Amino acid sequence: MARYIGPVCKLCRREGMKLYLKGDRCYTEKCSYTRRPYPSGQHGQGRIKLSEYAIRLREKQKVRRIYGVLETQFRGYYHNASRRKGRTGSEMLGLLERRLDNIVYRLGFAASRSDARQLLRHGHLKVNGKRVDIPSYLAKEGDKFELVEEARKFKRVEAAVAGAATRPVVSWLEVDRGNFVGTLKGAPVREELNEPAIDEQMIVEYYSR
Ligand code: SF4
Repeated sequence: MARYIGPVCKLCRREGMKLYLKGDRCYTEKCSYTRRPYPSGQHGQGRIKLSEYAIRLREKQKVRRIYGVLETQFRGYYHNASRRKGRTGSEMLGLLERRLDNIVYRLGFAASRSDARQLLRHGHLKVNGKRVDIPSYLAKEGDKFELVEEARKFKRVEAAVAGAATRPVVSWLEVDRGNFVGTLKGAPVREELNEPAIDEQMIVEYYSR
């Protein structure tokens, strides 16, 4: 599966907010957005009035970048969500939250979603006792996650677990970081997805224009 491999801090500066794409660095003063909170490039500090269309486009790009999903796949989440019973925007966020790379990140076994993808790709996670190496795997309620034995000693995993200890765990996940296991308890709760802030209705309007 293709993925974005360019400089990620540029994306935060482009979207005008911290998207937390780089793990622990995002929580320190080394964060590029904290130091230079404007888009990169010659015209980065110029004032631009965005059109209605551009505002919706930016919101869509922002969420796509937070979850590290390319356009075709992201559009697929939107279409899948639009066929569900609930509100399309929150259904779409729910699907993105149930991606396995996001869950590994939320459990605190990886410092960022891209680190989580790498762990998964190398087969370091078991779901219900079986290795799963697909970052887009959609977890179901009751799924049990376990980091394989050898990965528990990785320096980056140790650092991620230590960093995650200072951040709250979302209510739909249960985690035992000492034993590197976790469970998906239920559906993601929209109200807890506010860091960074998201206006999913803008994305719905973008795609249904
Ligand atoms: Fe870079 Fe993280 Fe700061 Fe974004 S939040 S600019 S990814 S350090």
